[in-house]
Amino acid sequence: MDGLLIGPATRRQALFASICAFAILLTLALAAPRARDALPGIAPFMPMCALAVFTTSSIAAFLLGARFAATRVAMLAALGGAYAFTAIAVALQLLMFPGVFARTGLLGALPNSAAWMWVFWHAGFPALVIVAELVRKRLPAPPFARERLDARGWLLIAGPAALAALLGVLVTHVDLASPFHDVANAAPAPSPVSAIANNLAGLVICALNLIAIALVLLKGRLRLVLDLWIVVALLASLVDAALNTLSIERFTVGWYVARVFSMFAPGVLVCVLVWEVTALYRQLAEEHATLIRASARDALTRVYNRSYFDEQFREAFERAARSGQPLSLVMLDVDHFKHYNDAFGHLHGDACLGAVASALAATLASTRHAPGGFVARYGGEEFALVLPDTGAHEAAALAERARAAVEQLGIPSPSAGGLVTVSAGCATRDAIVASSPNALIEAADAALYAAKHAGRNRVSHTGASIA
Ligand code: GH3
Ligand code: MG
Ligand code: MG
Repeated sequence: MDGLLIGPATRRQALFASICAFAILLTLALAAPRARDALPGIAPFMPMCALAVFTTSSIAAFLLGARFAATRVAMLAALGGAYAFTAIAVALQLLMFPGVFARTGLLGALPNSAAWMWVFWHAGFPALVIVAELVRKRLPAPPFARERLDARGWLLIAGPAALAALLGVLVTHVDLASPFHDVANAAPAPSPVSAIANNLAGLVICALNLIAIALVLLKGRLRLVLDLWIVVALLASLVDAALNTLSIERFTVGWYVARVFSMFAPGVLVCVLVWEVTALYRQLAEEHATLIRASARDALTRVYNRSYFDEQFREAFERAARSGQPLSLVMLDVDHFKHYNDAFGHLHGDACLGAVASALAATLASTRHAPGGFVARYGGEEFALVLPDTGAHEAAALAERARAAVEQLGIPSPSAGGLVTVSAGCATRDAIVASSPNALIEAADAALYAAKHAGRNRVSHTGASIA
């Protein structure tokens, strides 16, 4: 299905994703030369961004897990795992960060614990996207039996989350050296490229992001909606890592822009996933409406069917009873239709019924009538015209126009008149005494048989209003 995450991308989506990718790269180009320029320090900015990354990554992991449960596409579970890892890693980094919740950080953080969690967070995301791309190659959906897929698929989500927690334990129990070289204070100031090159952790992270982007491009060739937005998320992650590597100190241009992009990587996927839900909802609503419309129509004649008549006629009757407005019913029956079938066969008979139904519908459409009026196939070669807010005289006049319209079709018939005709019986419920819908149908039926007895191809109506 178009527009869905694992459906083909439309040109508009590709264009929109390209604009986003261009904007991300342009921001990098503009921010990189000024990465180390100091800006006013806003202490809550880092915890605020980390909280946003935690929330959006958790939502992305949950939604991708839900998509995996619905589609059984293992790659979605693996991507869910990448976001679950990000959520746990960023949460641990925030808790361990000195000065946020405690002066030296929570969870028994060591001096470099938070810095290492940052490295694991930024390296883990592209590494796990690479895993997702490998899973994509190895496990084309549906890859294996349902039960096994369930267990292994959920492992693809829970495994990375557990790995992030284990890394948290590692960095709080092993006193690791700082993952960053102190390029910030190097003199003379390093060029952007040499700053990244001097920083092994940053270099590895940037390389992982580039490998992940290359894999998505090679494997997916940007055919799926998912491919487009994963590339955009990876680009954001690359820019985040590159700017952070250029400027490790807080409250610099590079640091602020990197923080914004760290929120962008999970945020973009959440937006696409929520957009997908909205698109699905709209599609479902449209298909439901189409289904409802189709289920109300008679398959042969395309006018409303008997079940629509039963429901709507009862409602129209109740409305008329409440409001005191008249309600008219015209029953029409094709004359000597058995002879027609006998002479020309049932297929021609079917086509004739279709033409008669169209003539009746066209007559109603060309007549000013109150809202809610409709033509239905009552059964066999019988039709009903339901006319709310319509008095006996108007109903009889409309029935006469309908009769004439059928005659004017000029369909040859083996019966006496030489043409296919209809007889009609009208009945009107007025405001005097309440009655039942069936009483009105019986009265219209009685009028119809009166028309038949009087010689057919004519309109008859009940002498008294039905009440
Ligand atoms: P009358 O003027 O008294 O109404 O005569 P009639 O022949 O129309 O009435 P009768 O009830 O004897 O026959 C109705 C015929 O309508 C018989 C049946 O084969 C035909 N008919 C009912 N439904 C369909 C349909 O869906 N397609 C076709 N081709 N014929 C149908
Ligand atoms: Mg009949
Ligand atoms: Mg008939």
